[in-house]
Amino acid sequence: MDRTIRQVSELVSERLVSPARAEEIEEIASRYAVAITPEMAALIAQSDPADPIARQFLPDPRELETSPEESSDPIGDHTHEPIKGIVHRYPDRVLLKPLHACAVYCRFCFRREDVGPGGEALTGAELAAALDYIRARPQIWEVIVTGGDPFLLAPRRLKALVAALAAIPHLAVIRFHTRVPIVTPRRVGAALVRALATEKALYVVLHANHPRELTDTARAAARRLSRAGIPLLGQSVLLKGVNDDAATLEGLFRGLVAMRVKPYYLHHPDLAPGTAHWRPGLGAGRALMRELRGRVSGLCQPAYVLDLPGGHGKVPVGPCYAREAGGGSWRIEDPEGRVHRYPPPPRG
Ligand code: SF4
Repeated sequence: MDRTIRQVSELVSERLVSPARAEEIEEIASRYAVAITPEMAALIAQSDPADPIARQFLPDPRELETSPEESSDPIGDHTHEPIKGIVHRYPDRVLLKPLHACAVYCRFCFRREDVGPGGEALTGAELAAALDYIRARPQIWEVIVTGGDPFLLAPRRLKALVAALAAIPHLAVIRFHTRVPIVTPRRVGAALVRALATEKALYVVLHANHPRELTDTARAAARRLSRAGIPLLGQSVLLKGVNDDAATLEGLFRGLVAMRVKPYYLHHPDLAPGTAHWRPGLGAGRALMRELRGRVSGLCQPAYVLDLPGGHGKVPVGPCYAREAGGGSWRIEDPEGRVHRYPPPPRG
């Protein structure tokens, strides 16, 4: 198949789902959108029932089981939405969400209630109002363009958006969050790269969760962006059965760094509906980060973060190596777990 799979009948004909399961998968697909790009479908090992690529994109009956702590707005986007398309949670930065469609629909998505092929893009007037909101607030230093996936915008629209943001004097940083260079890298062509050209600091944050996603074509897409002078960062989600072991995370973070992508965040999964089967315990995540500390350089280590439910913000939740020991001195643990005393500062 050389186009994105969106129908359960296509999942069956591509042998990604057995005909016997079509009915139950249809029920899930009618609740949460399905899309698998040809590049991701080609990576799925059909003989492996636990394939980590398949798990991320193929509907699972457990998605229809919601637990009491889960919420349709797990990180409180809607409680910080002063105007359509803008989320303003921290004083100095905003999210700008120009569209709600994605190239793939990840089964663990924290915005799964909002994204989908039917999800609306901002109209011209709504986008203009969102830009006016940013223009009118000099404290906004950074805009994070997310969605949905902003790299699904036509290069012409992307270029106009970058130009409009670049023209706002107080805005210093434009950041794009996207899964496109990983899941459909051919979209990152010359026109898209040109659309991102600006004198402002523009960062692209790629979303990848497993080393097998870092294909030759994804690496080439990242190279096209980095050759244009665009700094690249990586964000990943800690997912049970996909990357919740140190060897897989090591492969993922080493692979990203080798393609000039600095791992930035490892997100603990959010409390989105029907995603309990994805979530390891926080203790397990911290233990994994501790294990990585001894295995890979600091360049390969993202911050392990949790977006607090209810919109209270994102905080690092990784292991802590320093504890106060009284009198201004500290007890510091090294990567092997040995504890050392660090002296207080000199008096006076
Ligand atoms: S690409 Fe991002 S926003 Fe889209 S479904 Fe995946 S996690 Fe959600």
